[in-house]
Amino acid sequence: MTSTFSGKLLVITAPSGAGKTTIVKHLIKTYPELAFSVSATNRPARPKEKEGIDYYFMSTEEFKQKISSDAFLEWEEVYDGQFYGTLRSEVERLWQLEKHIIFDIDVRGATNIKKVYGPSCLTVFIKPPSFQELVRRLRGRQTETSASFRKRITRIKKELSYETTFDKILVNDLLDVALKEAELITEEFIFERDEEE
Ligand code: ADP
Ligand code: 5GP
Repeated sequence: MTSTFSGKLLVITAPSGAGKTTIVKHLIKTYPELAFSVSATNRPARPKEKEGIDYYFMSTEEFKQKISSDAFLEWEEVYDGQFYGTLRSEVERLWQLEKHIIFDIDVRGATNIKKVYGPSCLTVFIKPPSFQELVRRLRGRQTETSASFRKRITRIKKELSYETTFDKILVNDLLDVALKEAELITEEFIFERDEEE
């Protein structure tokens, strides 16, 4: 059954380590009207990640089969051999629940979702205070092997140059300030609330 509710799409994008996950988790906790779009990936789960909550984890074969059957709204090979994608069924699932959707996806995926949904979609680029600080945070998170860390650093340089193509830029320097700013952006876009209200 196709949902008759079609909510808004808040797309949070940034280079790895900029703070997307931290900001997205805060917004989900703050606004029950928002739900997280769980992406599919063939990368292995990190120790604290859960199936169906953080990602739908699958084999490369299964991911490729889903590409062939046009199951993805968008997908990218974000790192060499590492695939990530938004399932069409995920957007439908969340709209059935009458939720607005929040995404944590890479810069190209964000651009593709904006192309499909236009003004119902807001793209927000999370900008680290500096390249050096981004590297420090990614290292501090302790989730990557040295090979994966190198892949991410190479890609970060490219991703940082994309910032001008998004609707909003949110600088994540002091976390509390960034979370407040993220709340303002969300309230203005999702609930069409003015800053003074
Ligand atoms: P992403 O999802 O963009 O890869 P994360 O949200 O995982 O980034 O953040 C990367 C690391 O930086 C995490 O360890 C997180 O706790 C930390 N972090 C996030 N925002 C800030 C901030 N404003 N100041 C310092 N550390 C931060
Ligand atoms: P991580 O492995 O750190 O969870 O994610 C790596 C990168 O893949 C991040 O930039 C994240 O935003 C991106 N990503 C996660 N899910 C998707 C998705 O469904 N589509 C696209 N295009 N990128 C995604």
